[in-house]
Amino acid sequence: MVNILLVDDQPSRLLSYEAVLAELGENLVRAGSGREALARLMEMEFAVILLDVNMPDLDGFETASMIHQHPRHEKTPIIFVTAVHITDLDRLRGYHLGAVDYVFVPVVPEILRSKVSVLCELYRQRRELERLNRSLEKTNADLADANAALQAEKANELHALNQVLERTNRELAGTNATLQAEIAERRRAEERLRDADRRKDEFLATLAHELRNPLAPIRNALQLLRTGSPEVTGGALTVMERQLRQLVRLIDDLLDVARITRGKLEMRKRQIVLRTVLDDAIAAVRPVIDDARQTLEADLEAADVEVDADPERLTQVFANLLNNACKYSPPEARLSISARCEDGRAVVLVRDEGIGIPAPQLEQIFDLFVQADTSLERARGGLGIGLTLVRQLVHMHGGSVAAESAGGGLGSTFTVQLPLSAARPIGDTRSGEAIPAAQSSAMPSARRRVMVIDDNRDAADSLSMALRLSSHEVRVVYDPLKAREACALFRPEIVFMDVGMPGMNGYDLVRLLRGEPWAERALIIALTGWGQETDRQRSREAGFDHHLVKPADFEEIEMLCNAERREGGGVASGVAHG
Ligand code: ADP
Repeated sequence: MVNILLVDDQPSRLLSYEAVLAELGENLVRAGSGREALARLMEMEFAVILLDVNMPDLDGFETASMIHQHPRHEKTPIIFVTAVHITDLDRLRGYHLGAVDYVFVPVVPEILRSKVSVLCELYRQRRELERLNRSLEKTNADLADANAALQAEKANELHALNQVLERTNRELAGTNATLQAEIAERRRAEERLRDADRRKDEFLATLAHELRNPLAPIRNALQLLRTGSPEVTGGALTVMERQLRQLVRLIDDLLDVARITRGKLEMRKRQIVLRTVLDDAIAAVRPVIDDARQTLEADLEAADVEVDADPERLTQVFANLLNNACKYSPPEARLSISARCEDGRAVVLVRDEGIGIPAPQLEQIFDLFVQADTSLERARGGLGIGLTLVRQLVHMHGGSVAAESAGGGLGSTFTVQLPLSAARPIGDTRSGEAIPAAQSSAMPSARRRVMVIDDNRDAADSLSMALRLSSHEVRVVYDPLKAREACALFRPEIVFMDVGMPGMNGYDLVRLLRGEPWAERALIIALTGWGQETDRQRSREAGFDHHLVKPADFEEIEMLCNAERREGGGVASGVAHG
């Protein structure tokens, strides 16, 4: 039900309107004047207003104007009721004021009813539309809210997803970088392997060359010896000795490198005076320096300091460096070795004015088998292991070694740094370090009964010949199984015995011989290619008095022949074991 406002100053007309409109079943509200109408409008909303034009006080037009000024009612349709015939101008005015229609008195009930009914219906529809609008707006707002929530949720999800993606990306980048690094490392490793392989091939070629090199002069010298001519004998022997020394050195170096690589090199460190080592190294290379008519300046005042070292190994270090200085310098060049102390370290410099070392190779030359010049025209021999040995030995002494050179042709300097000994200073070590060879030469030479047991006939014969030349009485046995009997007959004072022999090895044989009465005071000496401390130990345990590594120095052999004899199972004094 909607509200209909009936405005007329005549109650009878109001009554008639009510009668006409009652049928519509709407709520009819009366107002007797314009003012009362305005009052009603303040109270409620109307679907349509039936407004009398001619009223005292406020007439219909004025009332309509005031009604439509109010925002709530500006759209409320007004039907003007007028008794008199009005002009078109007035009618227009009415339309301007918001009138939607006119009815004339006397009112035709059906017309009034249908007009009001239409407007009521319109009002209802408008209301419905408004309601729908509102609900639509609400739905819209709800939708907007839902949308916003969805957007927010989506944004959150997106953000989270983004973060996950970023993290994954970062992880991927990390993995990628690691992979790249691994690939690079692998490439470098492959490169190193290829390099090592190439160097190994070069080394094998060089080794074959270096081993074959001394053989030619030895064979030539042999040829000369065979002529029996006394003029050439001396020279031939010198050649053979020199070449042999060269071969032995080569093989020693090789064995040392192999031992160091397998971590098997034994160091016998003790507190020594550095200078003794430097003097020994100089003495060792003196012959080659003299051969090349080079001069060596030594400034070793500062080397009278103690270091903890294996003297033999440290001598090897400086002999190698001096040997290189000599080898890589022209004849008559000046070489130098000098020492100084700084910051608790001894610093030894070996200088030459030779071919020098190109800068890119300064580091590499310490690597195994690396040689700065690998061309076929290379004038100097060598295997590229000397400096590897130097570096490893120096490291084993807690020191460091470095090479410097101003470049090709400008000479080289090798600097070795060694920590000084922290222990209490020692006295004059040199007087304490007896050199067995020196002792032996002072000893009177005696004629001994010497037995040589070796299945290698050349080795046995050459040794026995040398011993005979030294006026010893010598017997040779090639077959170890016949040794016991031969010894029982000959009763040797000294026995030189090979260890690796077919039929019976030296260890078993010496055990067997030790049970014989003649052997009680005899010196039995092992002659073998094995020189490790474990080998020496094994010899001692088997019953050998000494252990000589082939090729044994003849001076050492001679010294043992001159040593005092065994005293009831003990080792003769004055002779270093091995
Ligand atoms: P080798 O002398 O047997 O080749 P080393 O390991 O002693 O092996 O030396 C490696 C390389 O370092 C040599 O081949 C040589 O190129 C270079 N080298 C070593 N010492 C010197 C030096 N004093 N002057 C110039 N080059 C040197």
